[in-house]
Amino acid sequence: MSQRFCCVGAGFSGAVLARALAEAGLPVLVVEERGHVAGNCHTERDAATGVMVHRFGPHIFHTANEEVWSYVHRFAAFRRYVNRVKAVVGGRMFTLPINLLTLNQFFGRVMGPDEARRWLASEVRGDITAPANFEEQALALVGARLYRAFFEGYTRKQWGREPRELPAAILKRLPIRFSYDDNYFDHPHQGIPERGYTALVGAILDHPAIEVRVSCRFEALAESFRHVFWSGPLDRWFAYRAGRLEYRTLDFERIERAGDFQGTAVVNWCDDAVPWTRSVEHKHFAPWEAEGFARTVVFRERSRTAGPEDAPFYPVRLAEGEARFAAYREMAAGARGVSFLGRLGTFRYLDMDVTIAEALAAGRRVLACLGQGRAIPPFPEDGAA
Ligand code: UDP
Repeated sequence: MSQRFCCVGAGFSGAVLARALAEAGLPVLVVEERGHVAGNCHTERDAATGVMVHRFGPHIFHTANEEVWSYVHRFAAFRRYVNRVKAVVGGRMFTLPINLLTLNQFFGRVMGPDEARRWLASEVRGDITAPANFEEQALALVGARLYRAFFEGYTRKQWGREPRELPAAILKRLPIRFSYDDNYFDHPHQGIPERGYTALVGAILDHPAIEVRVSCRFEALAESFRHVFWSGPLDRWFAYRAGRLEYRTLDFERIERAGDFQGTAVVNWCDDAVPWTRSVEHKHFAPWEAEGFARTVVFRERSRTAGPEDAPFYPVRLAEGEARFAAYREMAAGARGVSFLGRLGTFRYLDMDVTIAEALAAGRRVLACLGQGRAIPPFPEDGAA
């Protein structure tokens, strides 16, 4: 057996963990089946326009975790970027997350914060104290009219399910503001790496104890490793023995033209009648270079159930699939020589900063286990988030 460790997948999980091992003097092979590192954060220059595009959908880095924020700054310069999302509803343009401007425009009123609070209190379903699903959560938070306009259609398109079949937790991620603050995120730190995410992840992997192999499947390797850290799909490691875990995938429709298409990076299309969920104009993610492009490129996103050959994006966590997920967790607990991490390895929807925080915690846990001669746990990030 080789003395090397193997990280399968060169997204944030695999790269951050590999770096932690390498900095402790341990050799690591990182294998990635795609032709590039950075996983779904991958960025590249669009050949036709020169715009830096987020190939698998927009990624805006935001965090309240000081350790993570200083960690990413070790490897890349960041530019300040504030995500301000616009939403189209019934042919009208609004601002998200729901804030005082959204409320005033939607209801055709001129309310201050206190009046808007009272207004919303009369909109919401006060009788729903323990929301059992997404729809109830939305009705309790914003009431029927805002729910139907901003959430019902979008959520149906995004998840391919009726909102009342979806967990309430999906909506808890979105704040409601009684101010004109239209920053999509609440975190104190927000930005975009100046040279893109692929350069950032490349820099994390740039260490003499790390070998990176892209366009290479783990299954094709002849080497046997001291331990494998798998950030691919949990069910794939076990050859789908208990059936497939469900994911949503995205299709991207490319639009290229002269000038400026929509004037902003992200527009959500909330109506059922529009088949896409978002249109994303990537040059606006890099306002420091946006002026330099004569042409622009936009991607419209459509979501659907991931088939066996599709890239998995969003884990679908529904009651009916939980028994299957539990079966895989049990298999993982019994497996030897392998640990699971990241969005696909643990089947959770993770923001980038949480992914990094967990990989850093996993690295500490793994090094402690090695130091004490203990077995590395199947989910080394457990309890770290
Ligand atoms: N959502 C919605 N309308 C919107 C934006 C979000 O209904 O205009 C719902 C949708 O169900 C989505 C969830 O809120 O999955 C979380 O939104 P977020 O913007 O965090 O999704 P992400 O950008 O991570 O896909």
